[in-house]
This record gives sequence, structure tokens and C-alpha cells, in this order.
Amino acid sequence: MESVGKIKRQLKQAGVTLVAVSKTKPIESIMEVYATGVRDFGENRVQEMVDKYEKLPKDIRWHQIGHLQKNKVKYLAPFVHLIHSVDSLSLLKVIQKEADKNNRNIEILLQLKIAVEETKYGLSVEECTELLQRYFANEFPNVTLKGFMGMASFVADEGQIRSEFQKLTSFQKLQIEEYPEYVSNLQVLSMGMSGDYKIAVDEGSTMVRIGSAIFGVRNYQK
Ligand SMILES: *Cc1c(COP(=O)(O)O)cnc(C)c1O
Repeated sequence: MESVGKIKRQLKQAGVTLVAVSKTKPIESIMEVYATGVRDFGENRVQEMVDKYEKLPKDIRWHQIGHLQKNKVKYLAPFVHLIHSVDSLSLLKVIQKEADKNNRNIEILLQLKIAVEETKYGLSVEECTELLQRYFANEFPNVTLKGFMGMASFVADEGQIRSEFQKLTSFQKLQIEEYPEYVSNLQVLSMGMSGDYKIAVDEGSTMVRIGSAIFGVRNYQK
């Protein structure tokens, strides 16, 4: 876990929030990272997040980082801190409904497709623009938009990764110009993982999602 301290120091200097991605990792490993002061943890499977939420300290802020199926929203709606992966209008409608049922407000990011490589998930610029219009027309009163999320291509070419992150930053800038009165809803930029977080921070990330660089490589066989 020595790497946690180093990563935390780098991010603190840059004013960037660390979300420790604990998917596939056991409770004991999460507690080791928790003991260093980290309180934000990310998962991509709802059942796994619910299990860990039940077993772990209640001051942990749970982040849903992977594609979220509509029929699973109800399980995390009572406690999730931030959903990074809102990638459709229909998902946003379900989040609104479940937040209302739970008498709470759920914070979200809109996931924009920035990678050149074929990826399944994420909104196109047009779709994202439409969701923003609906959001600012108050269609989702129990949802609080905080900003945007994006994933760069999994490639070695730093220039490509950088230019993909720049797409997210410039999209955000445009939206702040369009909706200056809502700037507080557009602040968070969740971008950067173990392999590319330094580039992401360079390019204006405010929140990184780091798994293997903290916990070691994942073993999906277990
Ligand atoms: C797994 C995952 C991460 C973390 O990946 P690492 O390369 O282990 O840091 C970040 N974001 C999302 C959406 C993920 O699914």
C-alpha cells in the first residue's frame, strides 16, 4: 500500500479528488486503504458495492463508475454518493424516480464518449447536450448534476490520450459558457485511471479513478 501515500500526495498538490477503485478487491484490502485516510471508493458492479457498503464503515462515499443497468439502480439508490456513468436519458429517468422514492438527492456525472476507439458506453456530444437542456429545465428535481466523466482509449500514444481528455475539458468549457448561472453543476471532471491519470491531471481533471496502481492488478478468476 505504499503507493497510496505517493499518489495521494501528488493529487493533493493538484487539488484532485482520489476515488480508489476497489472492484474485485476484498474487504481487508479496502480497510488498508481506508486506514490511510481515503474515503472515496469506486465499484462497477452494483451487487458488489451493496455487499461492501453493508460490511464497511458508513463514512465511505461510494462511487458507481461503470455502466449502470436501469434495473439495478434501486439497490444503490439509498446510499450511493456519486454515479459517474450516466449514459442515457432512460437511465437518468430511473435515477430520478429511485432518488424520489428514497427521499433523497442523488449526485451524478454525465459520461461523454471521448475515446476514438470503439467503446460501448458514453453519450455523444449531441445526446449530452440534450440531457443538459432537460436537466436545466428541471426535469430531474431529485438529481444533482456535478459534471462530466470520460475514459480515454487504452493505448500507448500519450498524444492521443491527451487529445481525448481535451475533448472533455473543452466540452465542459463550452457548457459553462452556455450555462454560466449553473457553473456549480459543471465543475467536476472525472478523468484518469492508473495508466493515464498524470496526463488527465495535466489536462484539468478534478477527480481520478485509480484501481490497480493502489490495489495491485485485479484477478477476475476468483
Ligand atoms: C476499473 C476502472 C477504473 C480503474 O482502472 P485502473 O486501471 O485499475 O486504475 C477506472 N474507471 C473505470 C470506469 C473502471 O471501470
